[in-house]
Amino acid sequence: MKFSDYNISKDIKEQLAVLGFNKPTDIQFKAIQHILDGEDVMAIAQTGTGKTAAFAIPTLDRIHRAKTKYKKSGIKCLVMVPTRELAKQISKVYQEIGKKTNVKTFGLFGGVEQEQQIKTLNNGIDILVTTPGRMFDLISQGAIDITGIQFLVLDEADLMLDLGFTKDITDVMRHIPQKRQTLFFSATISKKIKSLAYDVVRNAIRIQISPKNPVAKTISHSILEVEMDDKRFFLENIIKENPEMKMVVFVRTKVRVERVVAAMERVLIQSEALHGGLEQKERFAILDRFRSGENKILITTDVACRGIDIPDVDCVVNYDLPDNPENYVHRCGRTGRGKNRGQAISFCSESENELLKAIEEYTGDEIDRYDLSLGEYKDILDDTDDGSYNWKKMIKEQNEWDKTEDEW
Ligand code: ADP
Ligand code: MG
Repeated sequence: MKFSDYNISKDIKEQLAVLGFNKPTDIQFKAIQHILDGEDVMAIAQTGTGKTAAFAIPTLDRIHRAKTKYKKSGIKCLVMVPTRELAKQISKVYQEIGKKTNVKTFGLFGGVEQEQQIKTLNNGIDILVTTPGRMFDLISQGAIDITGIQFLVLDEADLMLDLGFTKDITDVMRHIPQKRQTLFFSATISKKIKSLAYDVVRNAIRIQISPKNPVAKTISHSILEVEMDDKRFFLENIIKENPEMKMVVFVRTKVRVERVVAAMERVLIQSEALHGGLEQKERFAILDRFRSGENKILITTDVACRGIDIPDVDCVVNYDLPDNPENYVHRCGRTGRGKNRGQAISFCSESENELLKAIEEYTGDEIDRYDLSLGEYKDILDDTDDGSYNWKKMIKEQNEWDKTEDEW
């Protein structure tokens, strides 16, 4: 089936063709018709398989048709996402697909001035894509009215329903009409969240396009056993051996992110740090520079592990293993998007063996190990351009030499 065969408005179909969307992906094929038919949907499909358009196309179509007929103002669709970067990205997808319609989509997030946002809201919008924090601020200030919502979409739904956000979501549900469509999309769903999700969308159509292993088929992923202190030399090696590659490197904490960037700088590798401790404007600018290719090495925390769609990322490096196994799937999923193929390589030090075990239990498969001889391992350390490391090594060698001399 092609998009041209769907019963969706011509304005949307034409624009899909402009964007190069001819055939629906699996998840789009399975979800779009149900959403057009007015049903609730809970959809689980691997990273990079086109979940955004799977909910954006039918919600846009319904709103576009109603708007052409009744010209009703007010927010009709609320899309909630966990990060500001995602709010920006997904609102852009809506704006692109809806370019030939008169449906207005707005991406709202914290960390930037409210005034301009309030102005845009006052001018009237139809679709609001937002992070919970800023939305609640503006609801309490009376700048947002969600009482006319017909569609509630949770993207990265498992995370949205997890810990911190659950209360926010139930609060939202209390304020919007009973008669509405609820749509949940994610690449992962844990058992705990599944039962909660089933409570929230009782009669939802459940679509799960995840084979047993939730890591997308387009990604080859492997583990490299490496000492904690040697990780930076291995990262240096990977980057220098693959100078053309666009790479996302995930590190456990903000402080460690900055340290890895500094370590790369010492060996003359240009990279940029992205984490929640930076100003929002700077966060967007860093992501833009990575998207455009001006910077090819992005070193980041889990703030960038979900949803970010940059199709030409060649490789993901898990410099540290993630604390929760779902995030392994999401981090790897920043590469191998759509029809592209990608690689993920994860450093695992001895202290991270338990995390690795949990990841393998979750993905249901033993992950391939890089076969590296001790000689090859040492060669990688010796190859570093880090002067301070060589200097320490020289002292160590000198000491050993001195010792031998003593023995002589
Ligand atoms: P997911 O949310 O499942 O991780 P996205 O919605 O971010 O994936 O989409 C991944 C990529 O696939 C995007 O770059 C998007 O433009 C592209 N894409 C989505 N649907 C189609 C389609 N039907 N045809 C071609 N490309 C598509
Ligand atoms: Mg997504």
